[in-house]
Amino acid sequence: MTSRAKRAVIIGAGIAGLTAALRLRQTGWDPLVIERAPARRSGGYALTFSGIGYDAAERMGLLPALTRRHITPDEMTYIKPNGKTRFSVPGATVRAMLGERALNVLRGDIEDVLYEAVHEQVEIRFATTVKAVAQDGLDVHVTLSDGTAETADLLIGADGLHSATRALAFGPEEDFRIDLDHMVGVFMMDQLPETVAEGSTATLTVTGRTLAIISLGQGRAGAFFGYRTDDVSRDLAEGPHKALPRVYGQMGWAAPEALAQLRSAESVYYDSISQMVVDRWSRGRVVLLGDAAWCVTLFAGYGSSLAVGGADLLAGLLQRHPDDVPAALAAWEAQLRPEVERKQKLGRRVKGLYAPADPLRLWLRDLPLRLAALPPVGRLLQRRLQLKG
Ligand SMILES: Cc1cc2nc3c(=O)[nH]c(=O)nc-3n(C[C@H](O)[C@H](O)[C@H](O)COP(=O)(O)OP(=O)(O)OC[C@H]3O[C@@H](n4cnc5c(N)ncnc54)[C@H](O)[C@@H]3O)c2cc1C
Repeated sequence: MTSRAKRAVIIGAGIAGLTAALRLRQTGWDPLVIERAPARRSGGYALTFSGIGYDAAERMGLLPALTRRHITPDEMTYIKPNGKTRFSVPGATVRAMLGERALNVLRGDIEDVLYEAVHEQVEIRFATTVKAVAQDGLDVHVTLSDGTAETADLLIGADGLHSATRALAFGPEEDFRIDLDHMVGVFMMDQLPETVAEGSTATLTVTGRTLAIISLGQGRAGAFFGYRTDDVSRDLAEGPHKALPRVYGQMGWAAPEALAQLRSAESVYYDSISQMVVDRWSRGRVVLLGDAAWCVTLFAGYGSSLAVGGADLLAGLLQRHPDDVPAALAAWEAQLRPEVERKQKLGRRVKGLYAPADPLRLWLRDLPLRLAALPPVGRLLQRRLQLKG
């Protein structure tokens, strides 16, 4: 007699949810992915993908596809408030600083690679969300917004920082969210601002505000706004179209062109930079994964890596404990939590350095980059990478 495949309902088709679907499918589960957005998201922002996520992607055979999407800027340029160049780090040095087992990829491109690997094997239901969750010890019952209901062995909340799964099964967001007093706004630009060279990434930081323009080739670019705020609730209530012009209106350099393109941008990511500190990531047969569980923030630069690495480890432990889901969840959390907490600590430490208002702190923050911009140091870093490679 063959036993039925275990059912997992996964809320969220981001990096965490798609990786979980892929790995669970590979280990004999029957996953269903529920995504609130009406269709796949693309673009997003450039992120560094390394560590446990890189290792897991290698094991899953995804590295060749991810490596094809890798972006290396021709140079990284740091701008003075008057628009002139403070210093530039050549692309080869940037690559060497990134290290050999790390990629620089758009969030949407990681999702694309995962989606391509999984969508023919797993149902992904768009424009749908979770409405209610109930557990009876053996199963978890999930009511969905399309009027259907699912009974599953496991419910995975991979629905990001503002997780509805967490709100339903763990408690209100405010009980777990720690705001780091910064906001971030990101969108794709159709036109590279005139002040930024094709192929380069240019950054201006002044009085608690950072604006970075990332050239993505063929005239397209990503605009990245990150700034300190003393009132996260006000900024969230205003939204990007009001808050970003208020904060960046007088910044100069590429800010006017970026703000002009904000008005017609197709989709804008705008949110507070907040960590999620959840005492236990599972309650019975409901488990949180990725930003929904731990959001280490962009300050730690490791959220996508934890999402992929965490999902891979979760599937591995569910395979090792085939008849005991709660035991698998406990083992998973015990193994992953120390790394997550280290990264959360790093995120909180980096907060003060991110967009410093004080020029001395800015100079100190940039010191390693300024050194890397010196030709002899750059050559040394590049040689180290060649020797390791
Ligand atoms: C600007 C920026 C820069 C970053 N840089 C880096 C970096 O350099 N390196 C790095 O590793 N990480 C970085 N990160 C963090 C990284 O992007 C995240 O940690 C990672 O994308 C989290 O993935 P996730 O799948 O957990 O969540 P998300 O990406 O938030 O995905 C959640 C998914 O769930 C869906 N969803 C939400 N609510 C519902 C609902 N109610 N019902 C159904 N579906 C729902 C969403 O539409 C989405 O598809 C950065 C983040 C930002 C914002």
